[in-house]
Amino acid sequence: MAKLSLEKAQDVIRRIRVANVRVKTEPRSGKFIHYCGRRNVAFGFEADSPLHNMHNIGMCRADGCTHEHKKGGDTLPFFEVDFGAKILGEQADVMQKLREIWRQAADGNAVTMLCWCAPETCHCVSLKRIMLELATGIVRYEGDL
Ligand SMILES: [Zn+2]
Ligand SMILES: [Zn+2]
Repeated sequence: MAKLSLEKAQDVIRRIRVANVRVKTEPRSGKFIHYCGRRNVAFGFEADSPLHNMHNIGMCRADGCTHEHKKGGDTLPFFEVDFGAKILGEQADVMQKLREIWRQAADGNAVTMLCWCAPETCHCVSLKRIMLELATGIVRYEGDL
């Protein structure tokens, strides 16, 4: 796909909202609602989202990570490195999910990404920036939205 201007990509990204899954008035499923967290059976999420943050607060269980992340924001630099590596490795389900979210927003829909952190710093904000970078080619990732 042709790369978008930053201005056009920002118009798209503005239609993507990050919301907290614990908020009772937030629907947890729907065509334009995308859960981006880890498996949580109590909340009805039977599997990790392809877009989940593999780094967690506390002693980290992510592959090869020996850090104790004190808060969500501390995981983001690690998440972004791992996520970039996954995109470069072309994990099909990850790019597919990003494309789905991006295209819905590009078609003019209001799209929600659900996580546990909002309004605190959230990996979904990193994901939005990564989508923007992919769409504009500002940072060279392997792949297209
Ligand atoms: Zn970690
Ligand atoms: Zn989050």
